[in-house]
Amino acid sequence: MRVVVDWDGTVTEVDSLSEVVRTFGNEGVYAETEDQLGRLTLNEVIAIEVATVSAPLVEVVDWVRENVRVRSGFEDFADKHRPLVVSSGLHELIEPVLQREGIRLDVRANRLKPRPGPWEVRFRDADVCDVCGEPCKRADVAGLGEFAYAGDGFSDRCVALAASRVFACDGLATYLESKGVGFERFEDFHDIAARLS
Ligand SMILES: [Mg+2]
Ligand SMILES: [Zn+2]
Repeated sequence: MRVVVDWDGTVTEVDSLSEVVRTFGNEGVYAETEDQLGRLTLNEVIAIEVATVSAPLVEVVDWVRENVRVRSGFEDFADKHRPLVVSSGLHELIEPVLQREGIRLDVRANRLKPRPGPWEVRFRDADVCDVCGEPCKRADVAGLGEFAYAGDGFSDRCVALAASRVFACDGLATYLESKGVGFERFEDFHDIAARLS
């Protein structure tokens, strides 16, 4: 069975896109916009937050390489299961961390428009999901067949409902619990590896 993993807060210990917005962008706008989730689409929230950053990408990438850690056990897990990474974050901030870890994986994520000034996101998929009513990660797993999914947050809610097996923590775990949907709680990738074997 294919394994699909969220990036921020799932592979990484903390949400690196949020940390970048709070460090290089506007923390006040970040907090206000997060509160709008549900009224605004996830992509609208991300676009607003990311637009508060205008630092040169190289500077932010240096910070990300220095500060963003992956959860314990991910390197071995990646070797063995070759998970597909599906993220609402940015290729530009994910690939440098994978490179640093010496891991090569397929990644589906958004990109930045390559130009100076306020960051602008080029979203990977414009199709609106029939289930949640906005562009979502289900489009990224279409055609995979059965899959196991690991995630932590808002962007994982809809796709997790389509998975054969779900590993969840934090907000995703709370959401699935509230919906009465079964899942397995994880702390790190040793946990997930042990349960998949
Ligand atoms: Mg996440
Ligand atoms: Zn959806």
